[in-house]
Amino acid sequence: MPPVSGDLATSIQNGWAGFLDLVSKVVSPDWGALIALIPLFVAPLVALLLLAMLGRWTIFGLLKPRARVRHVEGARAMERDAGGHLAPPAGAPFSLRTGLVYPFGTARTDDGEDLSVICPMCRVERLAQIGTCGNCGLVLNVRRGIEIARPAGPPPGGAAIA
Ligand SMILES: [Zn+2]
Repeated sequence: MPPVSGDLATSIQNGWAGFLDLVSKVVSPDWGALIALIPLFVAPLVALLLLAMLGRWTIFGLLKPRARVRHVEGARAMERDAGGHLAPPAGAPFSLRTGLVYPFGTARTDDGEDLSVICPMCRVERLAQIGTCGNCGLVLNVRRGIEIARPAGPPPGGAAIA
């Protein structure tokens, strides 16, 4: 008669082997299926990403001004009215040629064209370099929105202390 312990060890081993076999049967097909499905999950995401990028490019292509304009810092595209005509805002320098609205205080485009401005009070158009409205006398006293950086270096007296 074989020792009981040997039987027990064999049965545990068999049981363990059976368990592993069961696990491998249960787990392996699932992982394989999941790995096979990964491209199916990734493909729509890639497609969506591509569509989004194409969409942006398309929208940008439609919205960007037709005329090639040189970059002017702070200039923005002029809004259009319901009829698609350029609608310059009152009080801000603008150019119908470039279709841009420029920062307050700008008198010319960077290629030298005189900008116009519409008086916010009487809506009469004039050159942006003229500060006072010739029609109603309203003075547009706005400074160009550029801050001058302080020169680098120690504050006055700082060098003496150090
Ligand atoms: Zn005016």
